[in-house]
Amino acid sequence: MNASKILKTYFGYDSFRDGQEEIIQSILDGKDALAIMPTGAGKSLCYQVPALLLSGITLVISPLISLMQDQVKALNEAGIHAAFINSSLTETQIAKALGLAMNGTYKIIYVAPERLESAGFIQFAQSAEISMVTVDEAHCISQWGQDFRPSYLKIVDFIGQLPKRPVISAFTATATREVKADIECILQLNHPSIVVTGFDRENLYYRVEQISGKNKDKFILDYIDRHPNESGVVYCATRKNVDAVCELLSRNGAAVTSYHAGLDNAVRKKNQEDFIYDRAPVIVATNAFGMGIDKSNVRFVIHYNMPQSMENYYQEAGRAGRDGEDAQCILLFSPQDIRTNKFLLERKAFEGVGAEDIELIKQRDAQRLQSMEGYCRITSCLRNYILEYFGEKADVPCDNCGNCHREYTQEDMTAEAKWVINCIAETKGRYGQNIVMGILLGANRARLKEIGASSYKSYGVLSDKKERELRVLINEMLMEGYVIQTADEYSVLKIGDITRLRDEDTRVVIRKFEEKEQADGTRNRKARSTDVLTSAGFDLFEKLRQLRLEIAKEEAMPPYIIFSDKTLVDMCAKAPVDKAGMLAVSGVGENKFQKYGQRFIDAIAEFTADNPDAVISTTADEDIPVTKNVKQNAGTSWTNEEDDVLRNEFQSGMKIAEIAKAHGRTNGAIRARLKKHGLLE
Ligand code: ADP
Ligand code: MG
Repeated sequence: MNASKILKTYFGYDSFRDGQEEIIQSILDGKDALAIMPTGAGKSLCYQVPALLLSGITLVISPLISLMQDQVKALNEAGIHAAFINSSLTETQIAKALGLAMNGTYKIIYVAPERLESAGFIQFAQSAEISMVTVDEAHCISQWGQDFRPSYLKIVDFIGQLPKRPVISAFTATATREVKADIECILQLNHPSIVVTGFDRENLYYRVEQISGKNKDKFILDYIDRHPNESGVVYCATRKNVDAVCELLSRNGAAVTSYHAGLDNAVRKKNQEDFIYDRAPVIVATNAFGMGIDKSNVRFVIHYNMPQSMENYYQEAGRAGRDGEDAQCILLFSPQDIRTNKFLLERKAFEGVGAEDIELIKQRDAQRLQSMEGYCRITSCLRNYILEYFGEKADVPCDNCGNCHREYTQEDMTAEAKWVINCIAETKGRYGQNIVMGILLGANRARLKEIGASSYKSYGVLSDKKERELRVLINEMLMEGYVIQTADEYSVLKIGDITRLRDEDTRVVIRKFEEKEQADGTRNRKARSTDVLTSAGFDLFEKLRQLRLEIAKEEAMPPYIIFSDKTLVDMCAKAPVDKAGMLAVSGVGENKFQKYGQRFIDAIAEFTADNPDAVISTTADEDIPVTKNVKQNAGTSWTNEEDDVLRNEFQSGMKIAEIAKAHGRTNGAIRARLKKHGLLE
């Protein structure tokens, strides 16, 4: 078998992704390799495929028990014998596994780095044929990163004790120069081939909403309501928020669980498993959650609060859409988040760090926070902001983020801002935001009468404004520090530092936006994993998802390991009726077909019998029936003619969404094609 055949037979995929082939080839040529690819790019396959072709065993060093277990389950499902050796096993179990390994049962063995120092394991490795040592999450070797693991430093000593030096391959998603240099140097890679793919995660839709307090709750409730059955993570800055949001959602009937460092170990473990097994598809968590989670069908990551840095945001948001299907990353931003983060950073503990270094770290933290705030406030392409932050060039707006789908305008509200200050001064800072707005708007509420609001000079001076506009204005003033909000229960507005506001040149500008009309006529069309499907296809998708959940329960296996969301979507699009059709679905290999194929074929047949309209035709030169479950051309191959048309359209200035509509394809497909032709970077 060659690499492509293995990819198809075991993993069910037709083609390699960017960078995979290069890495695999290099390994097969006996050369060391270092791959820096973003989350979800498919790093595992880069060592799993060659491992099956090399004559001996591949040892994969991986930092977390949960990651190893997941990977081994996935390999076994694909029909590949693999094992892990870590502290979750007893000595007897380990001895047994090593015995089997000696007999050639396993091609791939996952080990925790600590194991490399155990005499028993070294002895095994010296007598077995080790063809490759793979270091996954290789950034753990670098003290520069947050995930430094001292035991990773022992890897080289271990390799040195082997009778023959195996090929060494290293994988990470962290691309900073320091980390890369550390990996190369500490692992002593020997003229490695280095593959670095772009940072962009095309299937992620980024979006920022500037909303505060209660409105965040409303947003989340509404979002989860409109995305039932979808798996997602809601990140909060504090444990208190995690508990509150989790409580709110479960009160409203969502199947949700929570995770933070304040919960005891057993509870944390159970909650995490409920999430992985889709018993609770939504998890509300602090940033303590996520490392070691490879759940591929996470369809959204919502940040209830702004994180402290772009690095954190990219990593957390990046947990969405590992399967390559569309997913949403939404950040809910309010001025309060900046204050909370400043407060948290001030309290950060510095043990064993010199005074000068502390100063430096603090400066860097402040800069990072500022860049994060910048992301929340820009009105241009969010994806490009991320790419540029990580040092990648980006010039064309992506047309696949919240800002690209919005038309922003600005309004000078300096005069109104001054009235807000007057009102707070006049009422001696005794009232909260609602009363202050009520006075300015000249509202006719009982509470306002009670306090004699109509006698104030500022009463009704802004009656021509909408409440929403004033809210935005006050938000902006909070952000600038002109106004402060006390943190106690009866939070009231006080005057902050208004020195700058006294300066003639200082303007208070608020931004407004309108959702752009999308080319397909719908407003702000939101990318969803099942976008490619019509409504009949979507019904089928739900049906198959249920079947997957049922099987997952029978097998005590996370659903996404049975089949990924992407595989289910492709199954709906192709609606196969037999083995050949099923094997043509992306992600269905021989072994999975044997185990589950027939049940899915039956479910599809049952569906098409109930929905005869969903099937249009079986064309002569294709043995797979084509259904109407899919956007007209999505997934079909490109002809030279269509390519020419595409090129002309793009060069004559047509928007990507317009082109996609004209071709009956998704925006992503068009972008990918344009990139292929070198018309887009
Ligand atoms: P990473 O380790 O880079 O974050 P993984 O190795 O976990 O990513 O892969 C992410 C997902 O992509 C998995 O569901 C995997 O099966 C899928 N995948 C990997 N390579 C391919 C490919 N060539 N075609 C289709 N899907 C792939
Ligand atoms: Mg990985």
